[in-house]
Amino acid sequence: MGAAPLLEVKDLVKHFPITKGFIMSKQVGAVKAVDGVSFTINRGETLGLVGESGCGKSTTGRLILRLIEATSGEVWFEGRNVLELGREEMRELRRDMQIIFQDPYASLNPRMTVGDIIGEPMQIHGIAKGQEKERRVQELLEVVGLASYHARRYPHEFSGGQRQRIGVARALAVNPKIIVCDEPVSALDVSIQAQVVNLLQDLQAEYGLTYLFIAHDLSVVKHISDRVAVMYLGKIVELTSKQALYDNPLHPYTQALLSAIPIPDPTLTRERVILEGDVPSPINPPSGCRFHTRCPVAKDICKQEEPAFADVGGGHFVACHLVERS
Ligand code: SF4
Repeated sequence: MGAAPLLEVKDLVKHFPITKGFIMSKQVGAVKAVDGVSFTINRGETLGLVGESGCGKSTTGRLILRLIEATSGEVWFEGRNVLELGREEMRELRRDMQIIFQDPYASLNPRMTVGDIIGEPMQIHGIAKGQEKERRVQELLEVVGLASYHARRYPHEFSGGQRQRIGVARALAVNPKIIVCDEPVSALDVSIQAQVVNLLQDLQAEYGLTYLFIAHDLSVVKHISDRVAVMYLGKIVELTSKQALYDNPLHPYTQALLSAIPIPDPTLTRERVILEGDVPSPINPPSGCRFHTRCPVAKDICKQEEPAFADVGGGHFVACHLVERS
């Protein structure tokens, strides 16, 4: 038997209620942002979580860290269900589970020096204070490719890529075990994206970190992921190793996403699958397979029955009626 995963997410659900009326407000519906998501992440692994905006991938990341509370489900981390922990236990656990946000402009307090931004979590968790804290801040700045004197500066004095490096240093300050990287490069110039992804990879090798790497584009996660999960309208539709996903995508949605990535070799061509229509509303998702309204190969059964998310062999999970189980 292999080692237990570091993180196990079971049937995670988040329905945001829609209410009507101010005084006697009553619930009239729900946005089904995350609707039964399950996956594991092994120690030292990077799981890429990919999908179009509004598919629920960022909500999934925030539910795991309890930045928002789940409607139902389980999140197991080192033998404990995170969703059942009390306030004090949760405070301690936050040391092990960190997040890097998408927008480095909005996620750093503009009135704090970089030194205080990185040093604050160390103080909160009783890891270091005074000169020891300052020394560690300077060390971390160098680890993420900045200079120790940057500790005295303010976030506005840095470029987008540098600010994301500050965000990475802040996450590392408490020696976490897992980091949810919530679209950490989406707001950056393409030329800077690779630098930040490479930095995250180097840090993973050095500190044995585990990542949930969220992105809206399969090309971004290809480099860094060991396995990749593809989300559509609140559900994971395919999950497998990077190799299998990019070489042999089985779900029509994954195939469409991959067909949109340009191939660097001009002698090779790939037929582009254009998906018709917009992503349907998560308030009232389509019946059966949620992808049937846009799927180029949908059959009648797809409208009526929801396909099971099942292993079709070798840990390649897919939810599609047309994929044969081995
Ligand atoms: Fe397309 Fe049907 Fe498969 Fe859904 S179940 S992806 S609609 S073929």
